[in-house]
Amino acid sequence: MWYLIVILVLLAGIFFTNKIHAQIKNESEKELKTKKKSSVESDTLTPLYTKEQIEEKLDYLCKTPPPDELSFGAMCYSVIVTAVQEKYTYVCPVCGEKTIYRRRKMEDDKWGGGSFWALESGLNACRREVEKVKGINIRLDESAFCKHCSPKIEKHEICLLINIQGESDTTRVCDVDYEDIVIIQEFLSGQLMHKGGNDSKLPLVKNADRIKQLLGFAFKEEKAE
Ligand SMILES: [Zn+2]
Repeated sequence: MWYLIVILVLLAGIFFTNKIHAQIKNESEKELKTKKKSSVESDTLTPLYTKEQIEEKLDYLCKTPPPDELSFGAMCYSVIVTAVQEKYTYVCPVCGEKTIYRRRKMEDDKWGGGSFWALESGLNACRREVEKVKGINIRLDESAFCKHCSPKIEKHEICLLINIQGESDTTRVCDVDYEDIVIIQEFLSGQLMHKGGNDSKLPLVKNADRIKQLLGFAFKEEKAE
């Protein structure tokens, strides 16, 4: 008789373990579905703007008086002393090849020390900032820094590739820096002020010509101010 009880207990055990497993599986599937749904939703939060919509935004920027909250930034600020790097190893995100740059060589060359700085700090800042731009197709073109991709290049500069929804042309603008990407981001998100270094706040409309140039819009005769 006792073995019948043992078998019953074992069967009950198997039944409950299976039920719990099925429940866990169900819940994790539900979680996965919610995750998938929310990532799709966040992708569609900022639609891509058409050329007409960007023109309307430019119009709004040029015609709307900026808020009265100018700030020229702190006059005194702490200087962060960082160790001067002599060498920078650039790893190309396209081909994966390494290109080594030496500060002294660049300073002696026609590129100037600025280019070494652009490589060392500017490039990473641009990479981070470009991720924040919503509403247009935008990406960095770093090919000028890769000796493998651009063996004959003379000028080492950061370029931007911009494509506006509905347009077949992609605009390639070179010699861009971090500030350029910041003003594009501010413009597309509908801001009227530009936040610069040292917490300065200035009317974004002052950069209207540069914004037009970066987005591939022809220059207009009238002054933005
Ligand atoms: Zn490359």
